[in-house]
Amino acid sequence: MKNEPTPLEDLDEETLFIVSQTFKALADPTRVRILNLLFYGEYSVNEIADKLSLLQSTVSHQLRFLKNLRLVKFRREGTSLYYTHDDEHVMGILRQTIEHANHH
Ligand SMILES: [Zn+2]
Repeated sequence: MKNEPTPLEDLDEETLFIVSQTFKALADPTRVRILNLLFYGEYSVNEIADKLSLLQSTVSHQLRFLKNLRLVKFRREGTSLYYTHDDEHVMGILRQTIEHANHH
């Protein structure tokens, strides 16, 4: 069983890796736009590309990145994949950071 580290203890390597990867995911304006959109609902790759004026290939590439980090998930309907967010913590961090950007 893994104990929650106290703030005085150093973080283990796995935790550091995941934290760094999480901020890397949020350190790209396109990924931020996609995650922000997926906060509000479920969209196909086409719909995301359309709403954000992005190329489908760009959207697919970024969704793969976000899927690998388990920040988004999809379900298949016919020939389309519908994506939504898959992590409440990271969506919370994103909401907080957007509020931070807007309170100045
Ligand atoms: Zn702030």
